[in-house]
Parts: sequence; C-alpha cells; structure tokens
Amino acid sequence: MANRKRLKSVTIPVSTFENVMKQFDQAAVKLNIDPGLLEFLKYPRKSTIVKLPVRMDDGTFKMFTGFRVQHSIVRGPAKGGIRYHPDVTLDEVQALASWMTWKSAIVGIPFGGGKGGIICDPSQMSLGELERLTRRYTAALMDSIGPEKDVPAPDVNTNETTMAWIMDTFSMHSNHTVTSVVTGKPVVLGGSLGRREATGAGVVLTVREALKHLNMKPEKSTAAVQGFGNVGSVAALFLQRLGVKVTHVCDVFGGLYNPDGIDIDALIEYVKENKKVGGFPGAKAFDKDEILYTKVDILVPAALENQITAENAFHIKAKIIAEGANGPVTPDADPILQENNVFVIPDILCNAGGVTVSYFEWVQDRMGFFWTEEEVNLRLEQFMTNAFNDVLKVALENKAHLRLAAFMVAIQKVADVVQLRGIYA
Ligand code: NAD
Repeated sequence: MANRKRLKSVTIPVSTFENVMKQFDQAAVKLNIDPGLLEFLKYPRKSTIVKLPVRMDDGTFKMFTGFRVQHSIVRGPAKGGIRYHPDVTLDEVQALASWMTWKSAIVGIPFGGGKGGIICDPSQMSLGELERLTRRYTAALMDSIGPEKDVPAPDVNTNETTMAWIMDTFSMHSNHTVTSVVTGKPVVLGGSLGRREATGAGVVLTVREALKHLNMKPEKSTAAVQGFGNVGSVAALFLQRLGVKVTHVCDVFGGLYNPDGIDIDALIEYVKENKKVGGFPGAKAFDKDEILYTKVDILVPAALENQITAENAFHIKAKIIAEGANGPVTPDADPILQENNVFVIPDILCNAGGVTVSYFEWVQDRMGFFWTEEEVNLRLEQFMTNAFNDVLKVALENKAHLRLAAFMVAIQKVADVVQLRGIYA
C-alpha cells in the first residue's frame, strides 16, 4: 500500500528547461564543437512576455500573461505550438522551444525552434473569451511572428480554430491574407490534409520502426496511451491499425481498460460527444495514475512533461516508450530505463511528425498549391523513417541510447549551419 502511494506522487522538477539543458550537455560532450558555439546553441535567442487585458463575458476585464520564445532561427523561422494551460511558465515554454529546434533539425526541415503559451484555464472560459484572448495575444506579437520569422501551431488546449483566429488577426493587421503565418489551420483556410493526424501518425511510424529493430511483431504487442487528445487519440488509432492491441488509455479525468483491446474508432466518436474517455461502454474504468505502470509492450505518454521520473521509472514495465508528449521522461529517469532495457523513442524524434507536416503546410501555403492526403502521408513516412534510421545508426555506432544519439544528430546539424554562416559581428 505504501508503495502504491509512492507511485502516485510524481515530483515535478523545478525546471523543465534545466532538463533540456542536461540532455543537451550529455550530447554536446560527445561532439567536437567549440564550447562558445555550444553556448550560443543552448540558450533561447529571444523570450517575450506579453500582458493581455481581455474583456470577459460578464463585462469585467481580466489580465492574462502570455509568452513567445524563439529558441533558434539559425536554420529558418522559429516554429512551434502555443499552449493554453494554468501551469504554463516561461521556463516550460523555453524548454518546449528548445526541443523544437532539435526536432526540426532531426527531420531535416528548414525551421528553427519556437514555442508560445498563455497562463489560462480554457475549460473555464467561453469561446468568445478565448477568441478575444487569442486575438489580443496575436496583436501583441505582430512584430515577432510571420511566415519568415516565427510560425505558431497548436499545442495543448489549442486547435485549428485558435489557428484560424491567429491567421485572421495577423492578416487584418497586414491588410492582406497571410495563410502561412500559422500551421494547423482548417483545410479550407490553407491548412494541410493530414496535419491533424500527423503527430500521432508520426509516433506510430517510429514505433513501427522500433518494433522492426527489436524483432517484435505489432500483432503480438499491446499498448497503453496516456492522454487522449490530438496526439494520444491518433496514436492509439494508428497503433490499432498497425495491428497492436491498445488495452489501456486515459485522459486527465480517468482511465479505461480492456484486455481484448479497446475499439479506438468507437472511443474517438464517444469522446467527440462526451469530451472525456470515462463512461465509454466496452471497457472498464481504472485509475488513470496507474497507466504508466501497466504491463504492456508499448507505452505512449501523450499528455504532459515530467511524467516518468527517477521516483517512478523503476516501475515501468513496457518494453518501448514512445514519447508522444514533449519531455515526459526526465533526465534522471533515463539511466534507470536504460538499465531496465526499456527502448525509449525520444520526443524530439518520436513526435516530430507534427512539425514535419506543419512544414508541408507552410510549403503548400507559400506555393499556393495543395497536395493530396496520399502525397502528404507518403512524404511524412519518408521523413520519419529516414529520421529514425539516421538516429538509430548514430546510436549503434556510438553505443548510445536513442535520446543521446538524437541530440547528437540535431546539435551537429545546427552547429554545421552556424559554422558555414559564420557569426555576424
Ligand atoms: P491535447 O490538449 O489535445 O490533449 C492532451 C490530453 O492529455 C488530453 O486528453 C488530456 O485530458 C490529457 N491529460 C492532461 N493531463 C493529464 C494527466 N495528468 N493524466 C492523464 N492525461 C492527461 O494536447 P496534444 O496536442 O495532444 O498534446 C499532448 C502532448 O503532445 C504535449 O506534450 C504536446 O506538447 C505534445 N505534442 C503535440 C503536438 C501536436 O501536434 N499537437 C506535436 C508534438 C508534441
């Protein structure tokens, strides 16, 4: 009983950005790069804090705080989502922006890293309040964002409607329609077919490659998915299509369990109506906090960061962790997982499908010529399998785990660009 209690109390580390810096440092020492240059690559180039007054539905004004961080623009415009959450901090946004830099480099798309966030609780706000908050945030960032500068996208609690408001606000201030200022827009506004599914689809492409590498058969494998939003629900669906039995899923409210596999198509329809997985017929309820410790082959954390730490990593039973979320495993948990032979597909590789199809969307907007869903999916598959195999090769050559190899690949790519461009002075 005491042990169970301990399992549930996951300590949130003081700084998520410190976690990224640790991951960076571990890879940097393996590379032959000037320490001064490493220092330049490590820290965000620009962090903006904006204060946002918003008129609420009851007529009062409420102040909100928003952030936008550009970690790097060395390889192209900053790129990254915007998160609406009560716990958003500048530290978290800096960490998420940094991961975006490395992610874009790994898949080889011409973007840097950025991220945004607003401290708010969208579940307590009306659609009108969210629209006014989003438009005010966009107006406050008019100087920093833009197709050549910094291109936002959805993240936790933001979606294609949020992106439509940003696109419209930016376009109104520019006096012409600028579709390529954001990605993850509705398709009729210049969004890309396949973008909504891209992150979850990419997660499963990396799982497919990992299963091949580990000589495991999808149809003999089981999976648990933490989080049933954009990433988690699509990852669960595509795992099921790959032949994997998804036995456990959960969202912030509760968990579901069916040893014969949950019907994910039906669950997605249920969640559209009910806004939560709880109560779904055809699966039993179970404690959502136990999902990380279930005995499955594949665990997909697809909710928030800092879920698997040194305190609970010993209890992970999965053979593969596919990091759908950003930063779900802390640096002090990594060695424990390695010791226990857990094959971790790191976030900067695993969930890079989203930014990859965001890049396709940006390309299509700038060309004014749109691709079929088949073309998008085919290109996504090429980018993700190439990235996975590039990272795996470096891992095998260096006897390194995949996260270390992924950071080595990414840092080297960005450093090479800086070396060629030179430092302007
Ligand atoms: P989302 O808001 O669509 O879904 C989040 C899900 O997590 C929801 O089902 C929510 O109920 C659940 N959740 C939140 N807290 C939880 C908790 N404590 N326990 C269990 N479930 C919990 O968000 P999303 O877009 O799916 O993003 C999820 C993660 O994936 C984030 O880390 C995000 O940064 C990352 N990510 C998203 C994208 C993207 O394209 N959306 C791309 C790359 C990475």
